[in-house]
Amino acid sequence: MEPMKFVNGQLPARKRFALVAHDRCKPYLLTWAERQKAVLARHELLATGTTGRLLSQRLGLPIESMLSGPLGGDQQIGARIAERRVDVLVFFWDPFESQPHDPDVKALLRLAAVWNIPVASTESTADYLLSSPLLDQAHTCRIPDYEGYLAARP
Ligand code: PGA
Repeated sequence: MEPMKFVNGQLPARKRFALVAHDRCKPYLLTWAERQKAVLARHELLATGTTGRLLSQRLGLPIESMLSGPLGGDQQIGARIAERRVDVLVFFWDPFESQPHDPDVKALLRLAAVWNIPVASTESTADYLLSSPLLDQAHTCRIPDYEGYLAARP
């Protein structure tokens, strides 16, 4: 199979963050988000259902909530990534417990890799990501060449 070809895509200065945490990781995401509230407040936030409810209670920031993850929220965020409407994924997935919606978790991480968006699965990576000089500036990144992909289809 031909390798995928890529083109340059644009990421906006005001990033669209998707935030997701499995149940046992929610306390870590909440603590991290509270510590980073001033940075997060400069960007657009969306989250899976329960994560979003807890984050908006804790931060008092506007957060668009999808469905709860096991009910389709992970897939909704995956769809937003494929539509290029999510620029950064912070996803604290639980390394100690399998989830009923593991296929959705895998699909979400896969789409983040396909569309080359930054992903943080740990608090340390999330801190690195938020301290990047690219965070608050528009910049280009490599994305799949969808037109070329379509043209090469039978
Ligand atoms: P939740 O979903 O925020 O609704 O708990 C997270 C997940 O498990 O994907």
